[in-house]
Amino acid sequence: MARFMGSVRGSRGEATRLGGTNTGLQTICNGWHEGIHVVAQVIGEKDYFTIYTTGGSSHRSPSSLLLTINEDGTITRNDTFMTWKCEDEECGEECDRDYKTLAEAGNPYCPKCNGDMKLK
Ligand SMILES: [Zn+2]
Repeated sequence: MARFMGSVRGSRGEATRLGGTNTGLQTICNGWHEGIHVVAQVIGEKDYFTIYTTGGSSHRSPSSLLLTINEDGTITRNDTFMTWKCEDEECGEECDRDYKTLAEAGNPYCPKCNGDMKLK
């Protein structure tokens, strides 16, 4: 079963798309001058839904991050950081990433040994 499911309904009816753990799912709903962009993704083992404004079809204003809805239903503002730790115990490097960076670049790699990192 797919991890994410998105649907859209407009003048030509309804369409749906699925998203997996690696692909996530993104949806955009634009008016002329404002809209929203939702990025659904898996970070660590959990689902996160990050919501941006888009500036609309006219791109009147730049995209900006509003907030992130966490799997447990709590809401995180865009200036919150998550701490990651290198999976290599001997390395043990830690780094902080905010939601905006995670939404754009995905899970971080260790800045010291380039290994996988896990949420601390
Ligand atoms: Zn490392």
